[in-house]
Amino acid sequence: MLSEDDLVAAIAAVAGGEGAGVTVGIGDDAAVLAGGIVASTDILVDGVHFDSGRISVRDIGHRAAAASLSDMAAMGAEPVCLLAAFGLPEGFGGVRELAAGMTEHGVPLAGGDLSRSGRLLVSVTAIGRAERPVLRSGGRPGDLLVVTGRLGGQAAGGYTARVTPRLAEGRALAAVATAMLDLSDGIATDAGRLAAASGTGAVVELERLPRAPGATVEQAAAGGEDYELLAAVPEAARLPVPATVVGRLTGDGEVLLLDGEGRPRSLRGWDHFA
Ligand SMILES: [Mg+2]
Repeated sequence: MLSEDDLVAAIAAVAGGEGAGVTVGIGDDAAVLAGGIVASTDILVDGVHFDSGRISVRDIGHRAAAASLSDMAAMGAEPVCLLAAFGLPEGFGGVRELAAGMTEHGVPLAGGDLSRSGRLLVSVTAIGRAERPVLRSGGRPGDLLVVTGRLGGQAAGGYTARVTPRLAEGRALAAVATAMLDLSDGIATDAGRLAAASGTGAVVELERLPRAPGATVEQAAAGGEDYELLAAVPEAARLPVPATVVGRLTGDGEVLLLDGEGRPRSLRGWDHFA
């Protein structure tokens, strides 16, 4: 099967792309529309993104909204509202809890749709506003790579802990970042995505990754679903929020994950289709 990135490329090829009211189309954390509106959608499926036997319905709603709001954070955007689509299995009684979990982030749910479904499926669209949306593509060789928070906590905890989208941090970093994304799949994959969009290489020093309690280096680099922010910032920039320098963008096209001795490691982040 094709990788997730290959599938996105196949869709982008027929999607119509930019023009009319679309300033930035497929390929970034969110689409940018005329007037500084940003929009992003995510889907969570029972058995793929969560196990409905191990996580409460309210937490599923919370998590689904967090994934979309994290994309707003990655653009430096202020969310305005959510739209949600639910696929509900026969006899599912938790729809109120699902919606209540979503709105715990303080962003209103303004519409959506319902269908019956073989398994629980939740898709959330976030709409926001950004004066200066930060894309993945503005990074330059020499920029430092910085991350918010700690990594690997979701993998270490079995992907059941609640996620906090870094909205305030994203808006603050937008003042200095040349490029930004949210770490949905792990920095091992996501640093390469930022570098590819920016037309640069990247070096990530694995020993520098701020690890969540109990997380291994591998979980911090490739566990995924931490939803912390990865930003490229000019070396001279003053960081407006606490963040850890983990590497830098380079002038060649190569993406290297280096261990403590400076040896390259091959680690891959999460890919639903791999
Ligand atoms: Mg994202």
